[in-house]
Amino acid sequence: MKPAPFGYLRPGTLAEAVAALAGDPGAKVLAGGQSLVPLLNMRLAAPTTLIDLNALPGLDDVTVDEAGVRVGALARHAAVLASVEARRVQPLVAMALSNVAHPTIRNRGTTVGSLVHADAAAEMPVVLVLTGGSLEVEGPAGRRTVAASELFVGPLETSLHHDEIAVSAHFPALAPGAGAAFEEIARRHGDYALVGAGAIVDGDSVRVGFLSVSDLPTVVDLSGVAEADLGEAALAELEPGDDIHASADYRAQLVRVLTPRVVAAAREHAAHRLG
Ligand code: FAD
Repeated sequence: MKPAPFGYLRPGTLAEAVAALAGDPGAKVLAGGQSLVPLLNMRLAAPTTLIDLNALPGLDDVTVDEAGVRVGALARHAAVLASVEARRVQPLVAMALSNVAHPTIRNRGTTVGSLVHADAAAEMPVVLVLTGGSLEVEGPAGRRTVAASELFVGPLETSLHHDEIAVSAHFPALAPGAGAAFEEIARRHGDYALVGAGAIVDGDSVRVGFLSVSDLPTVVDLSGVAEADLGEAALAELEPGDDIHASADYRAQLVRVLTPRVVAAAREHAAHRLG
């Protein structure tokens, strides 16, 4: 199918982009287009105007320091995945990103776009919640930071205002001595996961984040739970949903299988991690 007609703007500054968005309630921002363009083609979205961010300067950096990884709004998944320093400081980001779609899509799609798109089946929202990350956004009133715990409010819905543009995401560093792992089950590698799980283990603290189980990325605290009970303990905190891809029962079974697997992998990672 072809999209409904729309206007197109390619602003050269962030201020112009914010003003254009604020001035048109029907406008939408375009980043990598890997989620938005299919929605346009299927006519599930029909914005009046697309405000293309791709000419904005200074938004494609992946900046790493000991506090964490900052990903600019125009940094492609592939650039984040290729950053050796980002992988060292917060390995969970790369572990999850290697499961996001295929190289062609990762070459164009942005990590920040994936966060704002807020698909419960996407990998990066749950990584942002699990790492305690945040999104920096700019609107007519200036810049603010939105914690991951406040960001995701529903399927494909965030707490961002219509006239706000996300400028970067911050993934805090993995603590020294902690370990991380990511596992998912998909029909084919690169497909959206039927269920996915990321874990961070830090001493006695065990936290597991799930994607594609319910409408929101969900993190469960499994500290103190015996190895054999991890799957059932996670399930007690989740309400697996039903859709055309998998039944709720099947998703529940994947949670039982993936939870001990991802926790064991995170413990293994902690044991062998350097630094
Ligand atoms: P766009 O498509 O340009 O935008 C998506 C939405 O976010 C739009 O509503 C747009 O207005 C908004 N937006 C984007 N950037 C900003 C910003 N800076 N500020 C405010 N709003 C913004 N994703 C996965 O996570 N896992 C997968 O397995 C996966 N598989 C895929 C398979 C296929 C075949 C395809 C086509 C895509 C797949 N994706 C998958 C989606 C891909 O990761 C997208 O790149 C990503 O979800 C959105 O990033 P984008 O830059 O393309 O955003």
